Amino acid sequence: MDIVVSVKQHPLPGETIHGSEPMYSPGGKGANQAVAAAKSGIKVKMAGAVGTDGHGRDLMASLDGYGVDTGSVAGKEGSSGLAFITVDEAGENCIILSPGANGKMYPEELEQVWPAIEGCSAVLLQNEIPLKTTLAAMKEAAKRGQRVYFNPAPAVELPENAYAAIHCLILNETEADTLLGGRLTAEEGDETAAEIRSARTLVEAGVQSVVLTLGAKGAIYADKSGEMIRVKAFAVEAVDTTAAGDTFIGAFAAMRESGETVENSLRFASAAAALTVTKSGAQQSIPVKEEVELFLE
Ligand code: ADP
Repeated sequence: MDIVVSVKQHPLPGETIHGSEPMYSPGGKGANQAVAAAKSGIKVKMAGAVGTDGHGRDLMASLDGYGVDTGSVAGKEGSSGLAFITVDEAGENCIILSPGANGKMYPEELEQVWPAIEGCSAVLLQNEIPLKTTLAAMKEAAKRGQRVYFNPAPAVELPENAYAAIHCLILNETEADTLLGGRLTAEEGDETAAEIRSARTLVEAGVQSVVLTLGAKGAIYADKSGEMIRVKAFAVEAVDTTAAGDTFIGAFAAMRESGETVENSLRFASAAAALTVTKSGAQQSIPVKEEVELFLE
């Protein structure tokens, strides 16, 4: 749950200040991506955990409202995952993440998840649960023949043997820098060359394909066959970029799993993310398939 308070200026250590009324906005990378995929027209099941606080109920209600199956979301004694966000007059934000129930999503929990997602063509993972659980889920899903889409956010370096299980790694530039952790040597070349090199290096690390998102500059796709596709972002008036990445990821995975080509999926995901940027908030700002198609006409 995102708890957002507007302030004149961020407080200094030891300082107490007044803020606005809080705004409670259902969020979390996994939940946002699940909503984006569901709004893109595919069947989605969410696996994860919420707390026994009131936020857990609201988070589940939000997912249910968007048609996401929450049957595999566990309830954990204590708090839900929370993000305490302050936004100052310049629009700059400070965020404190408190993992709550997400931090208690241990590998053993997966035993209950697998039977529930039997028959799903793909599994989409993020880094908001313990890394050992994510890594175990990736390996098992790949073994079961489910395509693994992975958004390594918040970013941490991955063990080298994790890459082989990943069908599609989707990440932004900051996350790519963390994953590449110095593996890129500084070479001559413009910014585009550097971005392409990052995408190629991640493919060489062992994944089948990579989508590197570049904010208002668009995105780059690269895969094992040597294919390289660049898409521009759609020019829109940015109101709030919250959930832009999550929308892109959920929409891209949904389109690919519906059998769309990489090109069409990238175009759809860029349009969906651009529309999200024109509205404030997270899940409520994500467009449904028909809105994206109308925008693309
Ligand atoms: P994240 O939200 O994870 O930082 P990005 O900033 O790379 O991810 O944004 C993800 C995608 O959202 C981009 O590839 C682009 O398609 C779209 N996007 C982001 N910012 C804008 C913007 N200002 N205008 C249009 N599209 C945007």
